[in-house]
Amino acid sequence: VQHIKRRDILLMRELGEGAFGKVFLAECYNLSPTKDKMLVAVKTLKDPTIAARKDFQREAELLTNLQHEHIVKFYGVCVDGDPLIMVFEYMKHGDLNKFLRAHGPDAMILVDGQPRQTKGDLGLSQMLHIATQIASGMMYLASQHFVHRDLATRNCLVGASLLVKIGDFGMSRDVYSTDYYRVGGHTMLPIRWMPPESIMYRKFTTESDVWSFGVILWEIFTYGKQPWFQLSNTEVIECITQGRVLERPRVCPKEVYDIMLGCWQREPQQRLNIKEIYKILHALGKASPIYLDILG
Ligand code: AMP
Repeated sequence: VQHIKRRDILLMRELGEGAFGKVFLAECYNLSPTKDKMLVAVKTLKDPTIAARKDFQREAELLTNLQHEHIVKFYGVCVDGDPLIMVFEYMKHGDLNKFLRAHGPDAMILVDGQPRQTKGDLGLSQMLHIATQIASGMMYLASQHFVHRDLATRNCLVGASLLVKIGDFGMSRDVYSTDYYRVGGHTMLPIRWMPPESIMYRKFTTESDVWSFGVILWEIFTYGKQPWFQLSNTEVIECITQGRVLERPRVCPKEVYDIMLGCWQREPQQRLNIKEIYKILHALGKASPIYLDILG
C-alpha cells in the first residue's frame, strides 16, 4: 500500500458523506510524476476504533490490488495520525445515481432562482455506453474472483466524457440509508439489489453480482429510480423471494430487458455470465444510431 504524507494533502471542499466518514475534494502534491499537484477525492475516517483501523488496512490492501480502467483508481493512504485517509482519483460528476437523476425527465435546474426543465435526457446509446463500462469493470472483478456484494448505481462514479467506473467497496451506507435494510444488529443489506439466495441464505457469489447488474441496468433505464420504490423493505423481501421481477422501464428496448431477465433467473447457474452480458451490450452499442432509434 502506497503511503502519502499528510502535508501533501490539501482539503478543498466536502463532496459527500459515507458511513465510513466524510469525502472531500483535495489537492495532492507529489503524486503524479508529470504534475506537481492534482485533484483527488479523499475519504476520511475519524477517531477509528482498533477494529475500524483493521478494516481500513484490509480495505486499502484490497484496493491496491484492484486495478482496471473501469474501477476507480486508488492512490494510497495516509495513516500518520488522525483522521485516517484514503486517496482516490476524483470523478468530477460524482456518483452515477445522482447523475442519472440529473439527466432524467424529472430533473430541474434553477435559472435566476426559478425552476426550469433541463434540456435533453440521456439517450439510448449513452445508457448503453454506461452499462457496457460497468459490465467491463465487473468482468475484471470476476476474473479476480472478487465478489462485490453491493453493486448499484450509487456505488459507481462518473468522470469526464461519460467515463464510468465502479467506485465503492463497502463504505457507502449512509447517504442512501433507505437503500439498505437493517437485519439483526448492525448488518445493513441492499435487499432491493439482491437475488433470492442472498436474501434467504446470505449467499453472495459472482452470480449474485450478475443479478445486481440486472438491477443496475433497470436503474439506468429509469434514470435512477429506486427499485421497487412503491414497496416497503418487508414487501420487497416477500416479492423477490416469491420470484417477481422488476417491470420493463418505459424507455427500455426489449433487447435490453432480455438481458435484465437473463440476470434475474432464479437459479444462479441459469443466469447470463458477465462476459456474455458485456458482449451483448457492446454489440448493441455499436449498432447504428438509426437502428438504436428503432429500438428505442
Ligand atoms: P461514498 O462514501 O463512497 O458513498 O461517497 C459519498 C459521496 O461522495 C458519493 O456519493 C459521491 O457523491 C462522492 N464521492 C465519493 N468518491 C468520489 C470520487 N472518487 N470522486 C468524486 N466524488 C466522490
